Amino acid sequence: KGELMRGKRGLVMGVANDKSIAWGIAQQLAAQGAEIAFTYQGEALEKRIRPLAESVGSQIVLECDASNDAHLDAVFDRLKTSWGKLDFLVHSIAFAEKSELKGSFVENTTRENFLRAMDISAFSFVAAGKRAAKLMDRGGSMVTLTYLGAERVLPSYNTMGVAKAALEACTRYMARDLGPEGKRVNAISAGAMRTLAIAGIQGGRGLISTGREWSVMKEDTSMEGIAGCALWLLSDLGRSTTGEVVHVDAGFHIVGVPDTGGAE
Ligand code: NAD
Repeated sequence: KGELMRGKRGLVMGVANDKSIAWGIAQQLAAQGAEIAFTYQGEALEKRIRPLAESVGSQIVLECDASNDAHLDAVFDRLKTSWGKLDFLVHSIAFAEKSELKGSFVENTTRENFLRAMDISAFSFVAAGKRAAKLMDRGGSMVTLTYLGAERVLPSYNTMGVAKAALEACTRYMARDLGPEGKRVNAISAGAMRTLAIAGIQGGRGLISTGREWSVMKEDTSMEGIAGCALWLLSDLGRSTTGEVVHVDAGFHIVGVPDTGGAE
């Protein structure tokens, strides 16, 4: 147990189960003394989230569809009433229709699905961040989760890659606007992890195995590594870092062509 988040209160959005990246992050923040509120999507998830939240001493567990402004307003109103202020926000939310996450991007992407993916996976960070910032003093910090598919072409990632590119750009513009107020906004580009979200991507398991085999560390990305990065960015240790996309992927993103040890 540490003290890095002692006295800090924050909202974690995007826990679906105990494999969720948001949950890995929440556990490390709580172990460092943070007080956490959680949101979940849809009633069905509540019975899974509540015990997790209670296990880290959380009193506030709220439903929130991130594409619904009334839900977002209700969540931040509640935080204002209960806490008065907020120190951090974790946005770990993404969605694209399964039919988009395979094959040809050009052929499979529809206008409706494209806009929905953009709304939930990119704009929702702006929408939540705007409300969170109003409750933050100087020192406030926000983090979202992104993936290499924003920067490079990866199989099946398609619409989600485009949405992640938008999310990363949103991170920089949010950092620009909130910087003068002493509030920081960053993104963690995580290596492929075995969660519900990756199960929706055709060949998602291949992204995990290739991520391991091509990585310079020759290992899977660890939840501890992702959560450790979030802890750095959300605590005062990260006080001069903003507008950044930090890769936590065992060095997968720096490799152009995998090393075959000289074999032709
Ligand atoms: P996950 O399925 O556990 O989390 C995704 C969350 O998004 C779920 O909690 C889901 O309820 C939520 N969500 C979807 N639509 C929503 C909506 N309309 N309103 C509110 N919440 C909604 O999977 P995860 O891998 O933990 O994903 C978390 C984040 O990490 C996502 O942004 C994902 O793109 C990103 N990420 C994942 C990986 C990976 O390999 N798993 C790698 C890099 C980045």
